Amino acid sequence: MIPYGRHRVSESDIAAILEVLRSEFLTQGPVVPRFEEALRHYTGASQAVATNSATAALHVACRALGLGPQGRLWTSPITFVASANCARYCDADVDFVDIDPDTWNLSVLALKQKLVTARHEKRLPDILVAVHFSGQPTEQEEIKALGEEFGFRIVEDASHSLGATRRGERVGSCRWSDVTVLSFHPVKIITSGEGGMALTNDEELAWQMRLLRNHGITREAKAMRRTDPAVYEYEQIALGWNYRQTDIHAALGLSQLRQLDSFVDRRNEIASRYSQRLADAPLQLPTVRPENRSAFHLYIVRLRNSQITQREAIQRLRDAGIGATLHYPPVHLQPYYRDLGFGPGAFPEAEQFGQTALTLPLYPDLKEDDQEHIVQVVGDLLSSRVNPAG
Ligand SMILES: *Cc1c(COP(=O)(O)O)cnc(C)c1O
Repeated sequence: MIPYGRHRVSESDIAAILEVLRSEFLTQGPVVPRFEEALRHYTGASQAVATNSATAALHVACRALGLGPQGRLWTSPITFVASANCARYCDADVDFVDIDPDTWNLSVLALKQKLVTARHEKRLPDILVAVHFSGQPTEQEEIKALGEEFGFRIVEDASHSLGATRRGERVGSCRWSDVTVLSFHPVKIITSGEGGMALTNDEELAWQMRLLRNHGITREAKAMRRTDPAVYEYEQIALGWNYRQTDIHAALGLSQLRQLDSFVDRRNEIASRYSQRLADAPLQLPTVRPENRSAFHLYIVRLRNSQITQREAIQRLRDAGIGATLHYPPVHLQPYYRDLGFGPGAFPEAEQFGQTALTLPLYPDLKEDDQEHIVQVVGDLLSSRVNPAG
């Protein structure tokens, strides 16, 4: 089966891990701060806090931004569940903003309308999680302006988009947000096995996130109540968790980061080939706005007035050895969220998307022959001619 995504691990990645295994530290030692430093340098953000997953980074970001039981967080329904769950970990409410039919990111127009209504009802959100779906940044400067007008904080969920740019600005710079979260799960742009990172330009916020990723424990005398460091090595001053990254994982992440630009180039190359070959098929292809460069974590197409259902299409692709899948079933229709009161009809664009989208395989090592096979099978499936390569 050709998977929809997979990591590429090189000999130098392996060597970097072995070096840690032979060293003094296994968990958070000298390599974690080096990985943080490298991502600060790459993105331009002034602060980076490594965690053991993006889910953990989202959680500490929400807590550090003060999200609690009376709070509200909004996000897109077309995302991985973690973008919404982080609010639930804080006992806050979740709500969703419907998607843009072209970019499939949350619609800024829908956001504006929902904010106006929410202001009337005194139900404004505290945090918006803007997901860079499939690798394309959201309209971040417009969201920032709305954040200032309506008084909410912004977390960019950039789990899909490390290496992407908007208006020439690298994702992760936090120019238009409070925090940007990255994921290093193996299917993502670069991997550390499991791992995440929270980037910010706010020193205080970074301090809080560092505290929360390590049980709420500090070793800084100025933050301690009993200040004799000879006796009190540390104090717990808040309730945090063990969300630390290990040096083993950080070594892999750091080594992968050196290959990031080539990974993203390769992903864009494969995506353009799909778009060129499938241009005349009855499909909606990905739209990348001119001010964006996508990292192309996912290559998604949508069936359009087609004779074949999504279910049949995915089944036939799988029968042909192609691991096609759906990213994502709308989060608000997951049983857990239905139990919280959400149901069909709430976010029609997202629901339409959930019924018509399919993800085709895309990863740096996808072979040209395999992509050719995928294009041919998709063409057959839709009884459509595919364009010749070129
Ligand atoms: C993968 C993913 C996450 C969670 O990442 P982990 O590192 O696996 O916790 C969060 N949000 C989005 C959009 C993702 O795709």
